[in-house]
Amino acid sequence: MNGREAAVGPGAMRRRWKTGAIFAGALVAAAGLFTAAAGLWAAPDPPAGGSAAAPAPTHAPPSPSAARPASGPSAPAPLTVYFLEVGHGDATVITTPGGRCVVIDAAGGRVGGEAVLSLLRRKGIKRIDTLVMSHADSDHIGGMPDILRSGIEVGEFLDPGYPHTTQLYARVLKAVKDRPGTRYRTAKAGDLLDWGKELTVRVVNPFPNPKNSNDSSIVIQLHYGRVAFLFTGDAGSRVERKMVARSGGGLRSQVLKVAHHGSKSSSSAPFLRCVRPEIAVVSTNSASADGPYKETIDRLRAVGAKVYQTGRYGMITVESDGKGYRLAKEREPEKREAPVPAPVAAAHP
Ligand SMILES: [Zn+2]
Repeated sequence: MNGREAAVGPGAMRRRWKTGAIFAGALVAAAGLFTAAAGLWAAPDPPAGGSAAAPAPTHAPPSPSAARPASGPSAPAPLTVYFLEVGHGDATVITTPGGRCVVIDAAGGRVGGEAVLSLLRRKGIKRIDTLVMSHADSDHIGGMPDILRSGIEVGEFLDPGYPHTTQLYARVLKAVKDRPGTRYRTAKAGDLLDWGKELTVRVVNPFPNPKNSNDSSIVIQLHYGRVAFLFTGDAGSRVERKMVARSGGGLRSQVLKVAHHGSKSSSSAPFLRCVRPEIAVVSTNSASADGPYKETIDRLRAVGAKVYQTGRYGMITVESDGKGYRLAKEREPEKREAPVPAPVAAAHP
């Protein structure tokens, strides 16, 4: 964990941050989770010659206290986005500067529910303000019954409203219905979501009558100051074309949750040219630098994105102060790639 060279920040704030070790050390001390970090943070008022006074990252729980300055009157809590490592599936937890918590998807089965609940416990989070179901496939909602029955408060549940017919989806809807304190609502392209006055949150998919569950995915663009995140669910190239037609360069986002676990049928080149991500997080069980599909990874790299697979780096955490952002990985990949298994025929001649 040396202070490796930092990556870049967005737009005019793009500059190298030389104190990666400070950030990494603070993270380890504060959270006990991070073994490696590449930091990039545009300090609100950067001192000359470095950023030793950059705000220390905080992982304060999004209780009302989280909205208070973390280390002084000029250091509000950051926006923090956790992309959990949940194998093949999605689970993203967002804590906002205003002290709210949003969960997008809960991966598959017990693993997904426990992964989300465990993170919330570690952060002292007692309430999910918004639980977003990007779409009803099992690798996104498997953990939701456990979350909804865990006793944690859930303010609202967001559903794309696609008529999915699985028993699992029915169980999720029943679990929502069994909680009178949880508001059920659907989302569609063009909606604005209220996640706090410091954020602008826009729904960019689904459009009417999606052809399948993946294309019904709720796609959300979140702006905090100059920094934007795009959460894509499993949206495919068909609806990417619609998003491009409707929003074009408005899709520009520094941090992209890559659609459909890096599938070849998503992350089309025209879409990526509009988004122009600097950071691309792939929620996958693949530990390969080019995994799970080299074509997709190549398309991401072609637009300048650095790619982080959760199966390779563990949980990916991105924090932003609204002017820049910085990223922490849970681990570095193994030094030596795992040997390719010998073909069965060769192993049993
Ligand atoms: Zn999926």
